[in-house]
Amino acid sequence: MGQIDDKLEGIFDEVIRRNTGEAEFHQAVREVLESLGRVVAKHPEYLDKALIERICEPERQIIFRVPWTDDNNQVNINRGFRVQFNSAMGPYKGGLRFHPSVNVGIIKFLGFEQTFKNALTGLPIGGGKGGSDFDPKGRSDAEVMRFCQSFMTELYRHLGEYTDVPAGDIGVGAREIGYMFGQYKRLTNRYEAGVLTGKGLFYGGSLARKEATGYGNTYFTRAMLQTGSEDFDGKTVVVSGSGNVAIYSIEKVQSYGGKVVACSDSSGYVVDESGLDLDLIKEIKEVRRGRVSEYLRLKGDGNGVYFVKAGEGSIWDVPCQVAMPSATQNELTGKDAKTLIRNGVQAVGEGANMPSTPEAIRAFQQAGVKFGPGKAANAGGVATSALEMQQNASRDRWTFEKTEAKLAEIMRDIHDSCHETAEEYGVPGDYVTGANIAGFIRVAEPMRAFGVI
Ligand code: GLU
Repeated sequence: MGQIDDKLEGIFDEVIRRNTGEAEFHQAVREVLESLGRVVAKHPEYLDKALIERICEPERQIIFRVPWTDDNNQVNINRGFRVQFNSAMGPYKGGLRFHPSVNVGIIKFLGFEQTFKNALTGLPIGGGKGGSDFDPKGRSDAEVMRFCQSFMTELYRHLGEYTDVPAGDIGVGAREIGYMFGQYKRLTNRYEAGVLTGKGLFYGGSLARKEATGYGNTYFTRAMLQTGSEDFDGKTVVVSGSGNVAIYSIEKVQSYGGKVVACSDSSGYVVDESGLDLDLIKEIKEVRRGRVSEYLRLKGDGNGVYFVKAGEGSIWDVPCQVAMPSATQNELTGKDAKTLIRNGVQAVGEGANMPSTPEAIRAFQQAGVKFGPGKAANAGGVATSALEMQQNASRDRWTFEKTEAKLAEIMRDIHDSCHETAEEYGVPGDYVTGANIAGFIRVAEPMRAFGVI
Protein backbone atom coordinates (compact mmCIF):
# COMPACT_ATOMS: atom_id res chain seq x y z
CA MET A 1 0.00 0.00 0.00
CA GLY A 2 1.01 3.63 -0.41
CA GLN A 3 1.89 5.92 2.45
CA ILE A 4 -0.42 8.11 4.49
CA ASP A 5 1.24 11.31 5.68
CA ASP A 6 2.00 11.35 9.43
CA LYS A 7 -0.39 14.27 9.93
CA LEU A 8 -3.27 12.24 8.51
CA GLU A 9 -2.48 8.86 10.07
CA GLY A 10 -4.65 9.53 13.13
CA ILE A 11 -7.64 10.39 10.94
CA PHE A 12 -7.37 7.04 9.19
CA ASP A 13 -7.01 5.14 12.48
CA GLU A 14 -10.20 6.78 13.70
CA VAL A 15 -12.07 5.88 10.48
CA ILE A 16 -11.07 2.23 10.99
CA ARG A 17 -12.04 2.30 14.65
CA ARG A 18 -15.54 3.65 14.17
CA ASN A 19 -16.38 1.76 10.95
CA THR A 20 -15.35 -1.72 12.03
CA GLY A 21 -15.10 -4.34 9.29
CA GLU A 22 -16.10 -2.01 6.45
CA ALA A 23 -13.18 -2.98 4.21
CA GLU A 24 -14.33 -1.20 1.04
CA PHE A 25 -14.94 2.03 2.94
CA HIS A 26 -11.48 1.83 4.53
CA GLN A 27 -9.97 1.24 1.08
CA ALA A 28 -11.70 4.27 -0.47
CA VAL A 29 -10.76 6.58 2.43
CA ARG A 30 -7.18 5.33 2.46
CA GLU A 31 -6.73 6.10 -1.23
CA VAL A 32 -7.91 9.68 -0.77
CA LEU A 33 -5.85 10.25 2.39
CA GLU A 34 -2.73 8.96 0.60
CA SER A 35 -3.20 11.80 -1.90
CA LEU A 36 -3.91 14.51 0.66
CA GLY A 37 -0.44 14.58 2.24
CA ARG A 38 0.66 16.76 -0.69
CA VAL A 39 -2.25 19.15 -0.11
CA VAL A 40 -1.76 19.70 3.61
CA ALA A 41 1.98 20.23 3.07
CA LYS A 42 1.10 23.19 0.82
CA HIS A 43 -2.10 24.27 2.59
CA PRO A 44 -1.92 23.43 6.31
CA GLU A 45 -5.20 25.32 6.79
CA TYR A 46 -7.04 22.20 5.62
CA LEU A 47 -5.95 20.51 8.84
CA ASP A 48 -7.89 23.09 10.90
CA LYS A 49 -11.29 22.57 12.51
CA ALA A 50 -11.26 18.80 11.88
CA LEU A 51 -12.20 19.47 8.26
CA ILE A 52 -10.82 16.19 6.90
CA GLU A 53 -12.31 14.22 9.83
CA ARG A 54 -15.70 15.76 8.98
CA ILE A 55 -15.32 14.87 5.29
CA CYS A 56 -14.75 11.21 6.31
CA GLU A 57 -17.96 11.09 8.39
CA PRO A 58 -21.31 10.86 6.53
CA GLU A 59 -23.73 13.66 7.38
CA ARG A 60 -26.57 11.16 7.82
CA GLN A 61 -27.07 7.39 7.46
CA ILE A 62 -30.50 5.83 7.11
CA ILE A 63 -31.07 2.08 7.43
CA PHE A 64 -34.58 0.67 7.13
CA ARG A 65 -36.69 -2.46 6.77
CA VAL A 66 -38.15 -3.23 3.35
CA PRO A 67 -40.90 -5.88 3.59
CA TRP A 68 -42.52 -7.13 0.39
CA THR A 69 -44.66 -10.04 -0.78
CA ASP A 70 -43.39 -12.33 -3.55
CA ASP A 71 -45.45 -14.10 -6.22
CA ASN A 72 -45.90 -17.13 -3.92
CA ASN A 73 -47.44 -14.91 -1.27
CA GLN A 74 -44.37 -15.22 0.96
CA VAL A 75 -43.27 -12.15 2.87
CA ASN A 76 -39.62 -11.21 2.30
CA ILE A 77 -37.51 -8.76 4.27
CA ASN A 78 -34.65 -6.78 2.81
CA ARG A 79 -32.58 -3.99 4.24
CA GLY A 80 -32.64 -0.52 2.68
CA PHE A 81 -29.85 2.09 2.94
CA ARG A 82 -29.26 5.71 2.12
CA VAL A 83 -26.00 7.32 3.15
CA GLN A 84 -26.23 11.11 2.75
CA PHE A 85 -22.51 11.74 2.72
CA ASN A 86 -21.84 15.36 1.97
CA SER A 87 -24.03 18.31 0.94
CA ALA A 88 -21.38 21.05 0.72
CA MET A 89 -21.75 21.28 -3.07
CA GLY A 90 -25.51 20.75 -3.41
CA PRO A 91 -28.26 18.24 -2.62
CA TYR A 92 -27.03 14.69 -1.94
CA LYS A 93 -26.74 12.95 -5.30
CA GLY A 94 -25.88 9.38 -6.19
CA GLY A 95 -27.38 6.12 -7.27
CA LEU A 96 -29.22 3.23 -5.65
CA ARG A 97 -27.72 -0.25 -5.92
CA PHE A 98 -29.85 -3.40 -5.64
CA HIS A 99 -27.52 -6.37 -5.21
CA PRO A 100 -27.20 -9.14 -2.59
CA SER A 101 -23.68 -7.93 -1.67
CA VAL A 102 -24.96 -4.52 -0.50
CA ASN A 103 -24.20 -3.59 3.10
CA VAL A 104 -23.53 -0.34 4.93
CA GLY A 105 -19.76 -0.43 4.22
CA ILE A 106 -20.29 -0.76 0.47
CA ILE A 107 -22.82 2.07 0.42
CA LYS A 108 -20.49 4.22 2.51
CA PHE A 109 -17.53 3.66 0.17
CA LEU A 110 -19.73 4.50 -2.80
CA GLY A 111 -21.10 7.64 -1.11
CA PHE A 112 -17.60 8.79 -0.17
CA GLU A 113 -16.32 8.36 -3.74
CA GLN A 114 -19.46 9.98 -5.11
CA THR A 115 -18.78 13.16 -3.11
CA PHE A 116 -15.46 13.78 -4.89
CA LYS A 117 -16.72 12.55 -8.25
CA ASN A 118 -19.66 14.91 -8.15
CA ALA A 119 -17.40 17.80 -7.13
CA LEU A 120 -15.15 17.05 -10.12
CA THR A 121 -18.09 17.54 -12.51
CA GLY A 122 -18.14 21.21 -11.49
CA LEU A 123 -21.94 20.99 -11.12
CA PRO A 124 -23.85 21.79 -7.90
CA ILE A 125 -24.37 18.29 -6.49
CA GLY A 126 -23.38 16.80 -3.14
CA GLY A 127 -22.63 13.11 -2.60
CA GLY A 128 -24.78 10.21 -1.44
CA LYS A 129 -25.53 6.60 -2.22
CA GLY A 130 -28.13 4.02 -1.30
CA GLY A 131 -29.62 0.70 -2.14
CA SER A 132 -30.60 -2.65 -0.80
CA ASP A 133 -29.43 -6.24 -0.48
CA PHE A 134 -32.45 -7.19 -2.64
CA ASP A 135 -31.47 -9.53 -5.50
CA PRO A 136 -33.46 -8.68 -8.62
CA LYS A 137 -32.10 -11.74 -10.47
CA GLY A 138 -34.93 -14.13 -11.35
CA ARG A 139 -37.61 -11.87 -9.85
CA SER A 140 -40.77 -11.18 -11.84
CA ASP A 141 -41.69 -7.69 -12.93
CA ALA A 142 -44.50 -7.62 -10.36
CA GLU A 143 -42.08 -8.58 -7.58
CA VAL A 144 -39.63 -5.86 -8.61
CA MET A 145 -42.50 -3.35 -8.61
CA ARG A 146 -43.68 -4.32 -5.12
CA PHE A 147 -40.14 -4.19 -3.81
CA CYS A 148 -39.53 -0.72 -5.31
CA GLN A 149 -42.81 0.58 -3.89
CA SER A 150 -42.01 -0.71 -0.42
CA PHE A 151 -38.46 0.71 -0.62
CA MET A 152 -39.78 4.15 -1.59
CA THR A 153 -42.49 4.07 1.07
CA GLU A 154 -39.74 4.59 3.63
CA LEU A 155 -37.17 6.48 1.57
CA TYR A 156 -39.48 9.22 0.22
CA ARG A 157 -39.44 11.19 3.50
CA HIS A 158 -35.67 11.67 3.20
CA LEU A 159 -35.70 12.86 -0.44
CA GLY A 160 -36.52 16.02 -2.35
CA GLU A 161 -35.17 17.93 -5.33
CA TYR A 162 -33.32 20.26 -2.94
CA THR A 163 -32.44 17.55 -0.41
CA ASP A 164 -31.44 14.24 -1.94
CA VAL A 165 -31.75 13.02 -5.54
CA PRO A 166 -31.14 9.28 -6.13
CA ALA A 167 -30.62 7.59 -9.49
CA GLY A 168 -29.65 4.11 -10.71
CA ASP A 169 -26.60 1.94 -10.16
CA ILE A 170 -26.09 -1.84 -10.37
CA GLY A 171 -29.55 -3.52 -10.46
CA VAL A 172 -31.44 -0.24 -10.79
CA GLY A 173 -32.34 1.02 -14.27
CA ALA A 174 -35.22 2.84 -15.92
CA ARG A 175 -37.76 0.19 -14.88
CA GLU A 176 -36.96 0.49 -11.16
CA ILE A 177 -36.70 4.30 -11.32
CA GLY A 178 -40.18 4.33 -12.93
CA TYR A 179 -41.72 2.32 -10.08
CA MET A 180 -39.98 4.45 -7.46
CA PHE A 181 -40.93 7.74 -9.11
CA GLY A 182 -44.56 6.60 -9.36
CA GLN A 183 -44.63 5.75 -5.66
CA TYR A 184 -42.92 9.01 -4.66
CA LYS A 185 -45.49 11.01 -6.63
CA ARG A 186 -48.33 9.11 -5.05
CA LEU A 187 -47.05 9.46 -1.48
CA THR A 188 -46.20 13.16 -1.70
CA ASN A 189 -48.92 14.31 -4.10
CA ARG A 190 -46.19 16.24 -5.93
CA TYR A 191 -44.94 15.92 -9.49
CA GLU A 192 -41.39 16.65 -8.47
CA ALA A 193 -39.49 15.54 -11.57
CA GLY A 194 -36.08 16.55 -10.19
CA VAL A 195 -36.26 14.17 -7.21
CA LEU A 196 -34.90 11.20 -9.20
CA THR A 197 -32.71 10.98 -12.29
CA GLY A 198 -32.32 8.28 -14.89
CA LYS A 199 -36.07 8.60 -15.50
CA GLY A 200 -37.82 7.34 -18.63
CA LEU A 201 -37.97 9.73 -21.57
CA PHE A 202 -41.76 10.10 -21.33
CA TYR A 203 -41.74 11.62 -17.84
CA GLY A 204 -38.78 13.94 -17.49
CA GLY A 205 -35.79 11.75 -18.27
CA SER A 206 -32.87 13.14 -20.25
CA LEU A 207 -31.72 11.98 -23.64
CA ALA A 208 -28.15 10.60 -23.45
CA ARG A 209 -28.42 9.73 -19.72
CA LYS A 210 -28.43 5.99 -20.45
CA GLU A 211 -25.34 6.31 -22.64
CA ALA A 212 -23.57 8.88 -20.47
CA THR A 213 -21.33 6.82 -18.17
CA GLY A 214 -19.98 4.63 -20.98
CA TYR A 215 -19.57 7.51 -23.43
CA GLY A 216 -17.98 9.62 -20.69
CA ASN A 217 -15.44 6.95 -19.78
CA THR A 218 -14.56 6.61 -23.45
CA TYR A 219 -14.00 10.38 -23.77
CA PHE A 220 -11.87 10.37 -20.64
CA THR A 221 -9.80 7.37 -21.72
CA ARG A 222 -9.36 8.86 -25.18
CA ALA A 223 -8.15 12.13 -23.64
CA MET A 224 -5.56 10.14 -21.63
CA LEU A 225 -4.44 8.32 -24.80
CA GLN A 226 -4.16 11.63 -26.63
CA THR A 227 -1.68 12.98 -24.08
CA GLY A 228 0.68 10.38 -25.60
CA SER A 229 -0.51 11.14 -29.17
CA GLU A 230 -2.47 7.86 -29.25
CA ASP A 231 -6.14 7.09 -29.99
CA PHE A 232 -8.59 4.16 -29.97
CA ASP A 233 -8.28 3.60 -33.70
CA GLY A 234 -6.94 0.11 -34.39
CA LYS A 235 -6.62 -0.79 -30.71
CA THR A 236 -7.92 -3.95 -29.08
CA VAL A 237 -10.10 -3.19 -26.07
CA VAL A 238 -11.58 -5.29 -23.26
CA VAL A 239 -14.64 -4.00 -21.39
CA SER A 240 -15.81 -5.99 -18.37
CA GLY A 241 -19.47 -6.00 -17.39
CA SER A 242 -22.44 -5.83 -19.76
CA GLY A 243 -24.77 -3.28 -18.16
CA ASN A 244 -25.34 0.28 -19.32
CA VAL A 245 -21.78 1.37 -18.60
CA ALA A 246 -20.20 -1.48 -20.56
CA ILE A 247 -22.64 -1.43 -23.49
CA TYR A 248 -22.24 2.29 -24.18
CA SER A 249 -18.47 2.18 -23.69
CA ILE A 250 -18.38 -0.50 -26.38
CA GLU A 251 -20.57 1.63 -28.65
CA LYS A 252 -18.37 4.74 -28.35
CA VAL A 253 -15.07 2.85 -28.55
CA GLN A 254 -16.29 1.17 -31.75
CA SER A 255 -17.23 4.57 -33.21
CA TYR A 256 -13.58 5.64 -32.70
CA GLY A 257 -12.30 2.56 -34.53
CA GLY A 258 -11.42 0.47 -31.46
CA LYS A 259 -12.06 -3.30 -31.53
CA VAL A 260 -13.78 -4.49 -28.37
CA VAL A 261 -13.17 -8.22 -28.05
CA ALA A 262 -14.66 -9.19 -24.67
CA CYS A 263 -17.34 -8.38 -22.11
CA SER A 264 -18.77 -10.24 -19.11
CA ASP A 265 -21.42 -10.75 -16.46
CA SER A 266 -21.58 -12.83 -13.29
CA SER A 267 -21.90 -16.02 -15.40
CA GLY A 268 -18.48 -15.49 -17.10
CA TYR A 269 -16.98 -13.69 -20.08
CA VAL A 270 -17.43 -13.93 -23.81
CA VAL A 271 -14.70 -13.30 -26.39
CA ASP A 272 -15.20 -12.48 -30.06
CA GLU A 273 -11.78 -12.00 -31.60
CA SER A 274 -13.13 -10.22 -34.67
CA GLY A 275 -14.91 -7.67 -32.45
CA LEU A 276 -18.13 -7.99 -30.44
CA ASP A 277 -21.47 -7.71 -32.22
CA LEU A 278 -22.98 -4.92 -30.14
CA ASP A 279 -26.53 -5.29 -31.52
CA LEU A 280 -26.50 -8.88 -30.31
CA ILE A 281 -25.23 -7.89 -26.84
CA LYS A 282 -27.96 -5.24 -26.61
CA GLU A 283 -30.59 -7.77 -27.66
CA ILE A 284 -29.38 -10.26 -25.01
CA LYS A 285 -28.95 -7.79 -22.14
CA GLU A 286 -31.42 -4.96 -22.78
CA VAL A 287 -34.32 -6.83 -24.41
CA ARG A 288 -34.14 -10.36 -22.99
CA ARG A 289 -32.40 -9.54 -19.68
CA GLY A 290 -30.30 -12.65 -20.43
CA ARG A 291 -26.71 -13.84 -19.83
CA VAL A 292 -23.65 -13.15 -22.01
CA SER A 293 -23.18 -16.93 -22.44
CA GLU A 294 -26.10 -16.74 -24.89
CA TYR A 295 -23.80 -14.85 -27.28
CA LEU A 296 -21.95 -18.06 -28.00
CA ARG A 297 -25.17 -20.00 -28.57
CA LEU A 298 -26.53 -17.35 -30.94
CA LYS A 299 -23.27 -16.73 -32.83
CA GLY A 300 -22.11 -20.33 -32.94
CA ASP A 301 -18.87 -21.76 -31.56
CA GLY A 302 -15.56 -21.34 -33.39
CA ASN A 303 -14.39 -18.41 -35.54
CA GLY A 304 -12.67 -16.89 -32.55
CA VAL A 305 -15.85 -16.83 -30.44
CA TYR A 306 -15.72 -18.49 -27.03
CA PHE A 307 -17.13 -18.28 -23.52
CA VAL A 308 -15.27 -18.77 -20.23
CA LYS A 309 -17.35 -19.62 -17.16
CA ALA A 310 -16.97 -17.48 -14.02
CA GLY A 311 -14.24 -18.89 -11.79
CA GLU A 312 -12.48 -20.64 -14.69
CA GLY A 313 -10.45 -17.64 -15.83
CA SER A 314 -10.30 -13.87 -15.76
CA ILE A 315 -11.47 -11.53 -18.51
CA TRP A 316 -8.17 -9.68 -17.95
CA ASP A 317 -6.32 -12.67 -19.42
CA VAL A 318 -7.60 -11.51 -22.81
CA PRO A 319 -4.79 -9.44 -24.42
CA CYS A 320 -5.67 -5.79 -25.07
CA GLN A 321 -4.16 -2.31 -25.31
CA VAL A 322 -7.01 -0.62 -23.45
CA ALA A 323 -8.91 -2.06 -20.47
CA MET A 324 -12.19 -0.59 -19.26
CA PRO A 325 -13.33 -2.37 -16.08
CA SER A 326 -17.07 -1.64 -15.92
CA ALA A 327 -18.52 -4.36 -13.68
CA THR A 328 -17.97 -3.83 -9.94
CA GLN A 329 -15.54 -3.00 -7.11
CA ASN A 330 -12.24 -4.89 -6.80
CA GLU A 331 -12.84 -6.94 -9.96
CA LEU A 332 -9.32 -6.25 -11.28
CA THR A 333 -6.60 -7.57 -8.95
CA GLY A 334 -2.84 -7.08 -8.75
CA LYS A 335 -2.40 -10.38 -10.59
CA ASP A 336 -4.78 -9.24 -13.37
CA ALA A 337 -2.87 -5.95 -13.65
CA LYS A 338 0.41 -7.83 -14.12
CA THR A 339 -1.15 -9.96 -16.87
CA LEU A 340 -2.51 -6.86 -18.62
CA ILE A 341 0.89 -5.14 -18.40
CA ARG A 342 2.63 -8.23 -19.77
CA ASN A 343 0.17 -8.17 -22.69
CA GLY A 344 0.97 -4.53 -23.47
CA VAL A 345 -1.92 -2.56 -21.97
CA GLN A 346 -1.45 1.20 -22.47
CA ALA A 347 -4.48 2.71 -20.75
CA VAL A 348 -7.09 1.74 -18.17
CA GLY A 349 -10.33 3.72 -17.78
CA GLU A 350 -12.50 2.71 -14.82
CA GLY A 351 -16.18 2.58 -15.81
CA ALA A 352 -17.19 0.99 -12.49
CA ASN A 353 -16.60 2.39 -9.00
CA MET A 354 -13.24 1.29 -7.53
CA PRO A 355 -12.90 -1.78 -9.83
CA SER A 356 -9.09 -1.95 -9.46
CA THR A 357 -7.56 -3.06 -6.17
CA PRO A 358 -4.82 -0.85 -4.64
CA GLU A 359 -2.22 -3.44 -5.76
CA ALA A 360 -3.51 -3.22 -9.34
CA ILE A 361 -3.40 0.59 -9.34
CA ARG A 362 0.16 0.56 -8.03
CA ALA A 363 1.24 -1.94 -10.70
CA PHE A 364 -0.29 0.16 -13.49
CA GLN A 365 1.31 3.35 -12.25
CA GLN A 366 4.73 1.76 -11.81
CA ALA A 367 4.55 0.37 -15.35
CA GLY A 368 3.64 3.81 -16.77
CA VAL A 369 0.14 2.70 -17.84
CA LYS A 370 -2.26 5.65 -18.09
CA PHE A 371 -4.78 4.99 -15.33
CA GLY A 372 -8.10 6.88 -15.08
CA PRO A 373 -9.73 6.30 -11.66
CA GLY A 374 -13.51 5.79 -11.57
CA LYS A 375 -14.24 8.94 -9.63
CA ALA A 376 -13.00 10.91 -12.63
CA ALA A 377 -13.44 8.55 -15.59
CA ASN A 378 -17.00 7.44 -14.83
CA ALA A 379 -18.32 10.84 -13.72
CA GLY A 380 -20.21 11.27 -17.00
CA GLY A 381 -23.25 9.41 -15.64
CA VAL A 382 -23.82 11.60 -12.64
CA ALA A 383 -22.87 14.71 -14.64
CA THR A 384 -25.68 13.92 -17.06
CA SER A 385 -27.98 13.32 -14.09
CA ALA A 386 -27.21 16.91 -13.10
CA LEU A 387 -28.08 17.95 -16.66
CA GLU A 388 -31.36 16.06 -16.24
CA MET A 389 -32.00 18.07 -13.04
CA GLN A 390 -31.31 21.30 -14.98
CA GLN A 391 -33.84 20.31 -17.64
CA ASN A 392 -36.42 19.41 -14.97
CA ALA A 393 -35.87 22.69 -13.08
CA SER A 394 -36.42 24.75 -16.22
CA ARG A 395 -39.24 22.45 -17.46
CA ASP A 396 -37.24 22.00 -20.63
CA ARG A 397 -36.03 19.13 -22.76
CA TRP A 398 -32.75 19.19 -24.65
CA THR A 399 -31.81 17.29 -27.80
CA PHE A 400 -29.48 14.30 -27.69
CA GLU A 401 -26.82 16.35 -29.49
CA LYS A 402 -26.94 19.25 -27.03
CA THR A 403 -26.77 16.94 -24.02
CA GLU A 404 -23.96 14.84 -25.46
CA ALA A 405 -21.97 17.97 -26.37
CA LYS A 406 -22.25 19.19 -22.77
CA LEU A 407 -21.19 15.77 -21.48
CA ALA A 408 -18.14 15.78 -23.78
CA GLU A 409 -17.17 19.24 -22.53
CA ILE A 410 -17.55 18.19 -18.87
CA MET A 411 -15.40 15.09 -19.38
CA ARG A 412 -12.72 17.14 -21.12
CA ASP A 413 -12.74 19.58 -18.17
CA ILE A 414 -12.49 16.72 -15.64
CA HIS A 415 -9.59 15.18 -17.53
CA ASP A 416 -7.77 18.49 -17.77
CA SER A 417 -8.29 19.43 -14.14
CA CYS A 418 -6.99 16.02 -12.93
CA HIS A 419 -4.03 16.29 -15.31
CA GLU A 420 -3.17 19.85 -14.29
CA THR A 421 -3.64 19.19 -10.57
CA ALA A 422 -1.29 16.18 -10.76
CA GLU A 423 1.30 18.37 -12.41
CA GLU A 424 0.84 21.20 -9.89
CA TYR A 425 1.37 18.78 -6.99
CA GLY A 426 4.51 17.24 -8.46
CA VAL A 427 3.14 13.93 -9.78
CA PRO A 428 2.62 14.47 -13.53
CA GLY A 429 0.44 11.81 -15.18
CA ASP A 430 -0.93 10.54 -11.83
CA TYR A 431 -4.68 10.88 -12.38
CA VAL A 432 -5.46 9.25 -9.02
CA THR A 433 -3.72 11.96 -7.03
CA GLY A 434 -4.99 14.63 -9.45
CA ALA A 435 -8.63 13.53 -9.06
CA ASN A 436 -8.42 13.15 -5.29
CA ILE A 437 -6.85 16.57 -4.76
CA ALA A 438 -9.02 18.47 -7.27
CA GLY A 439 -12.20 16.85 -5.86
CA PHE A 440 -11.13 17.42 -2.25
CA ILE A 441 -10.45 21.14 -2.71
CA ARG A 442 -13.87 21.69 -4.29
CA VAL A 443 -15.58 20.08 -1.29
CA ALA A 444 -13.25 21.60 1.33
CA GLU A 445 -13.66 25.21 0.25
CA PRO A 446 -17.44 25.50 0.75
CA MET A 447 -17.11 23.56 4.01
CA ARG A 448 -14.59 26.10 5.28
CA ALA A 449 -16.97 28.91 4.29
CA PHE A 450 -19.85 27.27 6.20
CA GLY A 451 -17.90 27.02 9.49
CA VAL A 452 -18.15 24.01 11.77
CA ILE A 453 -21.33 22.20 10.72
N1 GLU B 1 -24.55 5.37 -9.94
C1 GLU B 1 -23.90 6.31 -10.81
C2 GLU B 1 -22.53 6.63 -10.25
O1 GLU B 1 -21.89 5.78 -9.68
C3 GLU B 1 -24.76 7.50 -11.16
C4 GLU B 1 -25.26 8.33 -10.03
C5 GLU B 1 -26.28 9.40 -10.43
O2 GLU B 1 -26.57 9.57 -11.62
O3 GLU B 1 -26.76 10.06 -9.51
O4 GLU B 1 -22.01 7.71 -10.40
